[in-house]
Amino acid sequence: MIKVGVLSLQGAVPEHVLAIRNALKMKNQEGEVLQVRDNSDLTEIDCLIIPGGESTTIGKLLKRFDMYEPIRDLASAGIPIMGTCAGCILMAKEGDLDVKRTRTELLGLMDMRVSRNSFGRQKESFESSLKIEGLDEEFPAVFIRGPIIEEVGRGCIPLAEIDGTKVMVKQDNLLALSFHPELSRDARVHRMFLDMVSKT
Ligand code: GLN
Repeated sequence: MIKVGVLSLQGAVPEHVLAIRNALKMKNQEGEVLQVRDNSDLTEIDCLIIPGGESTTIGKLLKRFDMYEPIRDLASAGIPIMGTCAGCILMAKEGDLDVKRTRTELLGLMDMRVSRNSFGRQKESFESSLKIEGLDEEFPAVFIRGPIIEEVGRGCIPLAEIDGTKVMVKQDNLLALSFHPELSRDARVHRMFLDMVSKT
């Protein structure tokens, strides 16, 4: 049985919990979701989702609960981690000026540079039918003040783009998305993530 952790300090937590349950059903796989609130929860999980929300706030809470190093250790141990939106920002090695100005510490797991809020304000949120590498049909991707993945290094492979801008990338056991897959009634991205667990 697989145990999926969802970092539950701030942000779109219940939506990810639901999407994982739906993906488990799609795969006909037994599993449970654990809402990760501190380091002791991290020792129990087979994979981790870092949700969208506010990267500044999630960063402060990660610091307060001393969770940076243990999450970095999980990543180096090959545990799959998926960061969505704010989570995508935290996964990056490098952030833009706004990330620096807000002194947000990044986990620095993925070889990429991100730029916060680069798809506009809340009212400029949009949905886009996205061609994702590995999925047969397009995915209805929801963008809410998402980051742009500006540049990636070797080993960080783009899986989806909008007008030439990277919005989903994979590096070994790590996945980062500018959008919110948990807000679409479509669990295929979560299923893709669960597939990474059985492969590691
Ligand atoms: N703009 C947010 C940030 O920088 C991310 C938005 C989101 O997760 N929906 O953290």
